[in-house]
Amino acid sequence: MDDDTVRINVGGTMFTTRLSTVQKYPDTLLGSISFESDCYSKDDKSFYFDRNPELFNTILDYYRNGCLHLPNHLCGWLWKTELEFWKIPLTDISECCHKTISSYNKRVDVSKMLKAVFSPLNHSEYASPSGIGKIRHRLWLFLDEPESSTWAKVFSFIYLSTVLVSASFPCLKTHPGIRIQTSNATTILKLAAYNNVQMWMNKDNHKEMQFATTKEPNWLYYWSLVICIFFSVETILRVLTCSTKNKFVKEWLNILDIILFVIMWICYGIKHAEKEILSNKHLAYFLCFCEAVSVLRLFRFFRLAKQYSSLRILFIAVQSSVRELLLLLITFFVFGWMFANLVYYTEILESESFPNMLVGFWWSVVTMTTVGYGDVYPVGPLGRVVGVLCSLCGLLVLAMPIAIIAGNFDSLCRHNEEREAYVKLQTKQKSNIPKAWETSKIDPNYPIKLFESYT
Ligand SMILES: [Zn+2]
Repeated sequence: MDDDTVRINVGGTMFTTRLSTVQKYPDTLLGSISFESDCYSKDDKSFYFDRNPELFNTILDYYRNGCLHLPNHLCGWLWKTELEFWKIPLTDISECCHKTISSYNKRVDVSKMLKAVFSPLNHSEYASPSGIGKIRHRLWLFLDEPESSTWAKVFSFIYLSTVLVSASFPCLKTHPGIRIQTSNATTILKLAAYNNVQMWMNKDNHKEMQFATTKEPNWLYYWSLVICIFFSVETILRVLTCSTKNKFVKEWLNILDIILFVIMWICYGIKHAEKEILSNKHLAYFLCFCEAVSVLRLFRFFRLAKQYSSLRILFIAVQSSVRELLLLLITFFVFGWMFANLVYYTEILESESFPNMLVGFWWSVVTMTTVGYGDVYPVGPLGRVVGVLCSLCGLLVLAMPIAIIAGNFDSLCRHNEEREAYVKLQTKQKSNIPKAWETSKIDPNYPIKLFESYT
């Protein structure tokens, strides 16, 4: 053996290499070893490191070849700790093998995020021993955690049925078969003239006239009122029983509840001022706006998301695909505008089609989304070519981001399945350990005693 050869003992396996090889990277642990180091044993003339010998070949290859390639059947965590020990920077990993570390990091992030989303309710916030605190906690569980008791389950069922029923009311309200005629158009106009009130309604528009001459039936009115009161009481109880107001504000469904609460009662108040609605156009429009917004109460269905993990994951997938959705919006806008321009100028000789570019934009959006109302369409041959290109482009622009979002959803679902299986195993093992001690005759302190007798 010449002077340049070094013997390195890693976890019992002997490796032999040249000193000049490891000294290529003096900033690393192996690069800085010398015969004066603590790890050098003069007896068997080798350096000793207590590490996994299976991984060391890869480390040694780094010094031999000058590049770091990781076998990808091993967990990223192993490589991270191993490289940290040998003081090899993570940036020296070759591009082709960087996936091992980056996918490990990504996995850890996703696991952390899923853990935070699905963590059980923090009951310690309510740990106050006072009677009122306990009652508040119970009420909160009753309202918010259907799994907490049978009554909570019953309540959540009633709650969701009420949401469903209340969502159907706006549809019923506008149907002419259900509304009750109170007067006819001529009477209303005469009455308005008599009272010297300026009517804003167009008597040829039957939707507006239906609004003025009919009213909702009494049963519908009283049922709406009952539902209004039900949701109001529920919202007030939620506000009162929530442990911290900060947490309450953070959840968007709670904010929506409060907004709907206010809108519901504004609607109720305005409806009683019939005369003002007939004379004040803006008030009538405001009522229409409030009625339209109150359909948002359907979002209350997402309270179900707490029970169905895949629904939650769908939300997270959409959230984590915000960048792709934004990209979709931008490309869609750019292409839409481009085709609007093209179709306008290729159709400029046709007097009937595309009077201006905004109509062209409407046409390109409708074509790219493959809806195609057919209200405007190119007539000339060049315009038709643009039409074909536009629909093809629409297919491509729409398909790609949707595939990305679906992929995100898929990978999150798989992550969550693995996480659930892991949690299940953990809880099963935890509950099994004491039982094993109970059923066998082994003294539970045996391992401790055994340890003590050795020391
Ligand atoms: Zn590689």
